[in-house]
Amino acid sequence: MRDTFDLAVVGSGIVGLGAAYAAVQRGLRVVVIDRTAEPVGSTVRNFGHLCFTPQSGDALRYGRASREIWMRLARDAGFWLRESGTHVVARHRDELALLEAAGERLDGGFGDGPSLRLLDAAQVTAAVPVDRRQVAGGALLPYDLQTDPRSAAPAIIRHLVSLGVEFRMRTSVGRVTTGTVETSRGTVFADTVVVAVNHDVDQLLPDLAEQHAVVRCSLDMLRVGIPLARPLASPLLTGWSLIRYSAFATLPEAGAVRERLHTERPELAAIDLNQMYTQLPDGSVIVGDSHHKAVTPSPFQSEATADLLLHETSVLFGAQARVLERWQGVYASAPEEFLVAEPQPGVLALAATTGIGMTTGLGLAETVLSERFGALHSTKGA
Ligand SMILES: Cc1cc2nc3c(=O)[nH]c(=O)nc-3n(C[C@H](O)[C@H](O)[C@H](O)COP(=O)(O)OP(=O)(O)OC[C@H]3O[C@@H](n4cnc5c(N)ncnc54)[C@H](O)[C@@H]3O)c2cc1C
Repeated sequence: MRDTFDLAVVGSGIVGLGAAYAAVQRGLRVVVIDRTAEPVGSTVRNFGHLCFTPQSGDALRYGRASREIWMRLARDAGFWLRESGTHVVARHRDELALLEAAGERLDGGFGDGPSLRLLDAAQVTAAVPVDRRQVAGGALLPYDLQTDPRSAAPAIIRHLVSLGVEFRMRTSVGRVTTGTVETSRGTVFADTVVVAVNHDVDQLLPDLAEQHAVVRCSLDMLRVGIPLARPLASPLLTGWSLIRYSAFATLPEAGAVRERLHTERPELAAIDLNQMYTQLPDGSVIVGDSHHKAVTPSPFQSEATADLLLHETSVLFGAQARVLERWQGVYASAPEEFLVAEPQPGVLALAATTGIGMTTGLGLAETVLSERFGALHSTKGA
């Protein structure tokens, strides 16, 4: 008997899971294939910060779709997700000016209220446990969400299994062509194949990866114990984040922030810092992160980078952090924010090619599959 499906998904990260979810909801017979026994890619190595508000263009469009899917999946699959918003701490008047400008221009369309609420220094220190001497002011982005990446993906997989999706783990894919997926456990036949293998797209579809200039971005991450005065009620961004996320970074006011930070702190600019934090349900705090782009990044993590991350953390919170875990994360990086391509008929390659796949990946997959198989209300699965 032929091993036949309507849709085969290669990769069980958030993009692949989003594709499987979109397809099974449309009544399709779906298989997900991954070479690892359980998700260990970017989808479990990140902050769990679902930062919809600071996006623009396609990222904002996919983010809006993702937000709704994250809320539904958390309810139906039963994993931890909080409507925390994001706090931004501004430590300089140029960061405040950038937040003020963003407040006038941001319209994420997430709800009735504003997408950004400016906060004075007292409001920031009341909301997040940072050292008050560090704070000039800040903002709340109320529509952002936070999840625990380590428990969300396994819960989504269990939910998809309950909906009828088949998972073939510890099964490596060596070749994908129209209608066939050649795996280490035999050939799978499928009308449509979604390739959602993140940075390893250069191994499965090398020509496509080269056309889109996809490389790897590696990040050094820490999970720490830190005696905070009170819990961190939401993800926390800093000025370093404002010069990274497109809705802030493309504003004219971002230039002054970038120039000052890079002039004052060349050692932090050299590791391409995004100083940000999320607290997990067990109280530990994820600290990040550095960025290094290469086709094959070095696997050796410099302790100097960890020292910088820890020093900046203790200054911001006025408390000493103790390292509980260290890891390297890797994501696909390219000049465009997304890779959406059909290199062969019926083979769809999908990737977030900046570090915002948790925020956008579910919406990216839903959008692309909706274009292929129709909107949910008009399909047999609805
Ligand atoms: C350290 C770090 C922090 C981040 N923080 C955030 C954040 O806070 N918010 C946010 O929005 N985004 C964040 N990101 C980005 C986000 O995590 C990624 O964009 C997203 O998880 C990518 O999902 P994915 O499904 O494409 O990839 P992955 O989760 O990496 O999944 C790809 C899967 O494909 C499988 N695979 C690859 N090749 C094959 C093959 N040949 N055969 C079979 N299986 C294969 C792999 O085993 C893997 O399971 C962060 C990323 C990192 C690394």
